[in-house]
Amino acid sequence: MSAESTRINLLDLDENGLRAFFVSIGEKPFRAQQVLKWMYHHQLDDFQAMTDLSLDLRQRLQLLAEVRAPEVLREQKSQDGTIKWLLGLPGGNAVETVFIPEPGRGTLCVSSQVGCALNCRFCSTATQGFSRNLTTAEIIGQVWLAAKMLGHERNGRRAITNVVMMGMGEPLLNYESVLPALRLMRDDLGFGLASKRVTVSTAGMVPGIRQLREDVDVALAVSLHAPEDRLRTELVPLNRKYPIDVLMQACREYVSDRRKRSVTFEYTLMQGVNDHPEHARMLAKLLRTVPSKLNLIPFNPFPGTGYRCSTSRRIAAFQEIVMSGGLIATVRKTRGEDIDAACGQLVGRVQDRTRRSARLKAAMTGVSE
Ligand code: SAH
Repeated sequence: MSAESTRINLLDLDENGLRAFFVSIGEKPFRAQQVLKWMYHHQLDDFQAMTDLSLDLRQRLQLLAEVRAPEVLREQKSQDGTIKWLLGLPGGNAVETVFIPEPGRGTLCVSSQVGCALNCRFCSTATQGFSRNLTTAEIIGQVWLAAKMLGHERNGRRAITNVVMMGMGEPLLNYESVLPALRLMRDDLGFGLASKRVTVSTAGMVPGIRQLREDVDVALAVSLHAPEDRLRTELVPLNRKYPIDVLMQACREYVSDRRKRSVTFEYTLMQGVNDHPEHARMLAKLLRTVPSKLNLIPFNPFPGTGYRCSTSRRIAAFQEIVMSGGLIATVRKTRGEDIDAACGQLVGRVQDRTRRSARLKAAMTGVSE
């Protein structure tokens, strides 16, 4: 085995983990604070540059540890300023991370798994199946890498003000690796983001929602997409296991304690599928039972999908009905469409990308595969 593979990647450890690491090598636990600051406030990966550590400790760290984020395979910039990175992982896999700049804020959309096992009918990530969970280092490494490339702390202004776990994968099915990453996003020694600025989006993993509530303060987003079980099961097969009433109960519990927590429901609008005025009325009735906001997402098409985006008229009508039902509802602005960076368009395995472009070419020339 090479020396490299036995080194511990410090991006895998939250503050507690890092303290335990320093104790295990005979150092004081507070070294964790020093190293976290270098790693997350300055995006350093070179122990030699961590100048408040003794030379001896720096040498030891170099032998024992490393700070290794995924490798950038490709960077694409959209006309609207959105940036998408394709990140290479050991074993030939890849995931995508998207940065969405807006006036006064910058949102990073982070992936949690290579592919996804949930098979939601309208999501392109589902078409590639599930390969594996990301490690904590690969999850927080996406934020670390983006912060480094964007010059995160330049002139006292932060490039990344919000992180959303809305990239590839179901974060609550990779809880063990996601939790330390969330803690590093929240921790002052890490990225220091407020609880409302870190969002976990789930297709409705009820046990994960309950666990999350116990472990860390973050905002919750739930991918609902239908106001009744029959349609929701068709679109999000996980609904068979955790039907709407069970999911709503978990969401009510999530927001029910002293701490300020929020739930946002995501609802992707597909023409003729879930965008009927009756769906809007049912949705308004359903969501009145949970203090929440609603985020309507125009469906983003991808090669091979049978769904279409609702017309803007239909979207506006839907929004009006739910709002007159007393909900706060916003329509998500589609970003990065020209580089396939919009919601549900993320893929990532280099292999799949080739197949996708072959499919596209076939579609354009009228030749089937
Ligand atoms: N697995 C998690 C994280 C993915 S978040 C979850 O399901 O919440 C990505 C969001 O975009 C989810 O709400 C997802 O349902 C939605 N989405 C997926 N495919 C889409 C598409 N083609 N167009 C618009 N939204 C889509």
